[in-house]
Amino acid sequence: GHSVMNRYTVQEKLGSGSFATAYLVTDAKDGGSLKVLKRISCGGLRPDSTLPSAREAKLLGSLRHPFIVQFFSSFLEKEDFCIITEYCEGGDLDCIIQQQKDKNRPFPEGHITEWFIQLLLGVNYLHERLVLHRDLKTKNIFLKNGTIKIGDFGVSRILSLPTDMATSFTGTPHYMSPETFSNSGYNSKSDIWSLGCILYEICCFQYAFEASNWIKLVSLIVEGPTPCLPSKYSAALNDILQRTLRKDPEERPSASEILTMPYIVDRAKVLS
Ligand code: ADP
Ligand code: MG
Repeated sequence: GHSVMNRYTVQEKLGSGSFATAYLVTDAKDGGSLKVLKRISCGGLRPDSTLPSAREAKLLGSLRHPFIVQFFSSFLEKEDFCIITEYCEGGDLDCIIQQQKDKNRPFPEGHITEWFIQLLLGVNYLHERLVLHRDLKTKNIFLKNGTIKIGDFGVSRILSLPTDMATSFTGTPHYMSPETFSNSGYNSKSDIWSLGCILYEICCFQYAFEASNWIKLVSLIVEGPTPCLPSKYSAALNDILQRTLRKDPEERPSASEILTMPYIVDRAKVLS
């Protein structure tokens, strides 16, 4: 309680999402370095269902990867559930896409592929450890020194909420895969679908699936056509998009399989 909050000093409010408010803070115990404090109001929920599991917190804290936002700690403070994470000064991909869209300037394919490889490496790291992200969207992907950082994974895990409730909490169904609307449930391939939606958005500056209401959107995701990339992008990149957006999760490649595709391997060689 008290001593934890003496440690962190709020510098500014970064913004509010569907269930959390993020603040930029300095950490007195780490030489005043900048970190992010996320307050999740537990207001309407039963306190025992919102208590973080120590095991989950330990697991999340043990995850370390160059393309993943580092999770430092979690605690309860005045009925709010708090999370301390790494700060990404470059902001989120949603904002970056919006800025580029306003300038009417598409990202070059080389740039997109570099980001996509970083996303694949980060997601592969999580999946190898049997951690599902469950909320991949451009608003949860950040840039730090020009590098991708995947954030906000495991928030639904640490809150130990039922999956469907945790999912509805995120507020946007745009990245939800067909199987998440049926009984088959969420699995690692559902994260791959979301990655496909993100790839499309980076290329086209619009959602892969969009409709005027929720019902139409769900039916488009479940049985609508798979969108294609414009012809200015290579057939190989479009082919990867098509595979990530296959309706049957078993037909989608895993992150490690995409990382072995020639187009990705060739590009990764140039980058390393
Ligand atoms: P959402 O993901 O729904 O936007 P969040 O509570 O996760 O809601 O984030 C709120 C705001 O804080 C967003 O504008 C986001 O860009 C910013 N933010 C969240 N985490 C970080 C971070 N680690 N580094 C920098 N900005 C962040
Ligand atoms: Mg977020």
